[in-house]
Amino acid sequence: MKLRIAIQKSGRLHEDSIKLLKECGIDINNGVNKLKTEASNFPLEVFFLRDDDIPQYVEDGVADIGMVGENVVLEKNRSVKVATKLGFGKCRLSLAVPRSVEYNGVKDMDKLRIATSYPVILENFLKENGITADIHEISGSVEIAPGIGLADAICDLVSSGSTLFMNGLKEVEVILKSESVLITNNSLNAEQQQLLEKLLFRIQAVKKAKNNKYVLLNAPNDNLQKIISLLPGMKSPTVLPLAEAGWSSVHSVLNENDFWDIIESLKAAGAQGILVVPIEKMII
Ligand code: ATP
Ligand code: ZN
Repeated sequence: MKLRIAIQKSGRLHEDSIKLLKECGIDINNGVNKLKTEASNFPLEVFFLRDDDIPQYVEDGVADIGMVGENVVLEKNRSVKVATKLGFGKCRLSLAVPRSVEYNGVKDMDKLRIATSYPVILENFLKENGITADIHEISGSVEIAPGIGLADAICDLVSSGSTLFMNGLKEVEVILKSESVLITNNSLNAEQQQLLEKLLFRIQAVKKAKNNKYVLLNAPNDNLQKIISLLPGMKSPTVLPLAEAGWSSVHSVLNENDFWDIIESLKAAGAQGILVVPIEKMII
């Protein structure tokens, strides 16, 4: 029995999807132009597909699981489960209007022509806000629609905003924040479920490791308690005596989000020789 996973054949999610599998210790040889391949050291078969098709393949059970943007999952509205977020492919689905247009809130969208590749998500958003607009579905290059007179506004994926800027547009409303997720078929059998759990366990370990750093520092013993109190650690920090009297080496794990604030406080409390090391896997 093998678990079959669908990932994007080429595009923004392709590399990161393969990278995550590799970080989970799964070796796959991803020859270009291949439709599918097998992992050599995990019972996994990998299908390379267009991202838009992945929710349907997973719903139909052609693939058991898939990696795809939440934006696509919501737009396709297929009957699949979201098992976990994957931490890559971050973007937002936003409304944008020409820079010269004054914007005072969603109600300004009323009666406008809005071009998008996400008609389902957009329609829900407009409904929730009591707005009627004319949705023009186009499959690509949505950002040029206002410039050629096809629409007054657009609803499109944005990450840095540079594409909008180059097309004379400004982002005025975020409809959805999205990232890649792992979706699964609704009726996996026990064996497939077990393989999924195994994969999820590894994905969580990789994700946690990415969000955390291992920190080592030297602390003067007379301020040791203060320094330890600043460090959360997985249980509590490790403290080892240094060869030099009056000093200790303190080891701990810090979350990326609190990282810089804590480092500053540590320095202020007299910590020296602070080393920050990436963590490869983290199992707690
Ligand atoms: P395919 O040929 O597989 O249909 P595509 O052209 O639809 O590819 P990509 O542009 O590769 O798709 O984007 C795939 C996914 O990457 C998007 O659905 C979204 O989840 C994510 N993404 C992240 N940042 C961006 C961005 N700035 N623009 C578009 N998509 C982004
Ligand atoms: Zn696509």
